[in-house]
Amino acid sequence: GSTIGILGSGQLGRMLSIAAAQLGYRTHIYAPETGPANDVSPLLTRARYDDAGALSAFARSVDVVTYEFENVAFAPIAALAPLVPVRPSALSLATAQDRVNEKRFVEGLGGRPAPWREVLSLADLETAIAEIGCPAVLKTSRFGYDGHGQARLKSPDDAATAWDRIGAAPAILEAFVAFEHEFSIVLVRGLDGQIVSYAPPVNVHRDGILATSTIPAPAAVAAQWTEAATLAGRVADALDHVGVLTLEFFVGTDGPVFNEMAPRVHNSGHWTIEGAVTSQFENHIRAICGLPLGSTDTVGTGAVMENLIGDDAARWPELLADPNAHLHLYGKHEARPRRKMGHVTRVPR
Ligand code: ATP
Ligand code: MG
Ligand code: MG
Repeated sequence: GSTIGILGSGQLGRMLSIAAAQLGYRTHIYAPETGPANDVSPLLTRARYDDAGALSAFARSVDVVTYEFENVAFAPIAALAPLVPVRPSALSLATAQDRVNEKRFVEGLGGRPAPWREVLSLADLETAIAEIGCPAVLKTSRFGYDGHGQARLKSPDDAATAWDRIGAAPAILEAFVAFEHEFSIVLVRGLDGQIVSYAPPVNVHRDGILATSTIPAPAAVAAQWTEAATLAGRVADALDHVGVLTLEFFVGTDGPVFNEMAPRVHNSGHWTIEGAVTSQFENHIRAICGLPLGSTDTVGTGAVMENLIGDDAARWPELLADPNAHLHLYGKHEARPRRKMGHVTRVPR
């Protein structure tokens, strides 16, 4: 059998390892972090992302490399790409790991984000506020996730506090979107360019962290599905993306408002494990291994995915007692506030 290399040792890679194992592949994790590991993968390299020797040994030990998170450094991907197929490619990573790049890229393909400006200094921020107005959201261009690296501005007086709050890093200012619903398009593009996508869940965030994803989404989302999915497909084609690609949207008054993209399996796609014929994880493995893609059809009437954050995981006895609940725990040893410990998917029967 072949071996799939995965950069990063978090829960997304862990779920990819499970899907890979089911198809007869081994996975080899490469990650510098100590701490919770992807303990289902039989192979693990603990080395820094700038360790050239460890990277080339890793490249020789695997048949294809993927990554579980866009906040992985770009350098190891660039170093691996000449040695072994990296899917999705370095272009997908470079585009999606920087909010300025991703917004420009998607705008170039006809997508419409909320008004935004690049912010490299407090002076830039003040100019951007004058042009865009408030309320607005300041986000670091890179390394944000689960709402980290963001500050909301109610008025121009908040500029200096917000700039400090995000650590005076390269950023963008976005107009605040007073949306009713947000949703995501999770698609997978095969090595041959075939694209299939899942029904869009409506996503509810609490505190900047995804709380629930629900299928089917309300009519307001369904009405914007085609336009959003068409755009997502154009993005995937333009990147020559291989694997799962996720685009997040707000339901806008005249069409979907693009928020951000992720070049990977996505938390809002976890419902597909039980709620779709082929999960996003299996389809990602199929795509990067050059296999035919599986059906993305919803099974039954829908699904509700709820994240278990921090102490929520202590509810496991009650969740195991619920005959409609599929419990997933990520094996993290310590429950911390805001930390994703697992999720539960309810598939009505
Ligand atoms: P993720 O964990 O999805 O990668 P992230 O930290 O990259 O999240 P975003 O997706 O940009 O951050 O923002 C997190 C959430 O904050 C969004 O899903 C949305 O609920 C809210 N949000 C972000 N930008 C805006 C905006 N411009 N207007 C209104 N709400 C917003
Ligand atoms: Mg993000
Ligand atoms: Mg997001």
